[in-house]
Amino acid sequence: MSIKELEKYNNFKCACGKIHNFSSKVITGYDILDKIPETCDEYCANNIFLLCDKNTFKAAGEKVIQILKSAGKQVTEYIYNDEKVVPDEVSVGKAVLNFNSDCDVIIGVGSGVINDIGKIVANVSNKPYFIVATAPSMDGYAAAGSSMERGGVKTTVKSKAPDVIIGDFNVLKDAPLNMMLSGLGDMLAKYVALCEWNIAKIIVGEYYCDEIASLVRIALDKCVSNADKLMSRDAQAVQAVFEGLIICGAAMEYAGISRPASGVEHYISHIIDMRSVALGTPNESHGIQCAIGTLYALKMYERLKNIVPDKEKAKKFVQEYEYSAHKEFLKKFLGKTAETLIALEKKEGKYSVTTHEKRLEIIINNWGNIISVIEEKMPSYEEILAVWKKLGGPVSLSEIGIDEKLFPEIFIATKDIRDKYVLSFLAWDLGETDTLLKEM
Ligand SMILES: [Zn+2]
Ligand SMILES: [Zn+2]
Repeated sequence: MSIKELEKYNNFKCACGKIHNFSSKVITGYDILDKIPETCDEYCANNIFLLCDKNTFKAAGEKVIQILKSAGKQVTEYIYNDEKVVPDEVSVGKAVLNFNSDCDVIIGVGSGVINDIGKIVANVSNKPYFIVATAPSMDGYAAAGSSMERGGVKTTVKSKAPDVIIGDFNVLKDAPLNMMLSGLGDMLAKYVALCEWNIAKIIVGEYYCDEIASLVRIALDKCVSNADKLMSRDAQAVQAVFEGLIICGAAMEYAGISRPASGVEHYISHIIDMRSVALGTPNESHGIQCAIGTLYALKMYERLKNIVPDKEKAKKFVQEYEYSAHKEFLKKFLGKTAETLIALEKKEGKYSVTTHEKRLEIIINNWGNIISVIEEKMPSYEEILAVWKKLGGPVSLSEIGIDEKLFPEIFIATKDIRDKYVLSFLAWDLGETDTLLKEM
């Protein structure tokens, strides 16, 4: 599977019943920045607004501006002067205040944050948008949403998917090593994500597509088999991670949901970020948190395999469960972010005794299938730990400055993030949360 093959999925009438589509054009290769003026021509763009920060200016921004100007294009640039650009109102405001509204196209040069801001500006100004990727650090390049901090709360803002994604492997291989590590971490998360997607199909009847799942799986296996060489900036390894991340982005668009790329391990990362925004506690980059979340999840899935569902135990647990106490815990643990989570449950009612009973029935009747999915799709904890450790990635919360004792609370809070059925809810349905969390 290479990135070129993504084209075959455009307008693809799939056995899952959907017609899959991926709207961004992806241009990857070695030394391809020279192609940007041509791509601008395809959009009849002569006047360009370019957005980058100090680091991405050095990584590629400067070169892109030169190339565009030599091709006779007019360029207005805004380069963030900040040490670290925060994805919030202030940063969006700076981009807007320096925006050239006469431009024909917006080009972001950067990775996560620059792209998230660029997509917002492109969306509100209704201009075409290109991103020149500078790091294989996360799978959100193609997403039609931006991960932001708004009013002190971490949230996803609707923006737009880039019209063109440009990945020059000679730029990407020089990205900071922790960003490469983060990209691989975001890929490792897919083991859990794919497995949970399948489990959710069984338990809550969620839409599922085998074709998309295997696309992601192949890309993931390629990343893992090349992982050894990533930290030495081996071009093939960097290419595998970047293409893998783009394929995952495409997979989410094909499916129309984030399931192919995110599960409970992403929720663990989200909770850490929510706490960080609301309470100022430490956090790390997205992919690194996801890798740690993956390791913890793999450990818990190994425990889950040894559980024999006990209907009476589960029913008793849910009957005695006090949601009001849980609500108070969420408020204390997540600050004002908790309000969104509480409002969601009001709409969903997944904690109700009746919906629980229905799910429990299905879980018990399909327990063998659920275990086979885990056995088939999930590597062992030891296996992934070895891959990640070899690269020097942090393997525990304490290594990223978070008290290890908080993990049970982080895990319990993951149930409430969105309406996605993940491991923490399955554990709750079984009344076995404590069993999974023992000595975690
Ligand atoms: Zn499909
Ligand atoms: Zn991710």
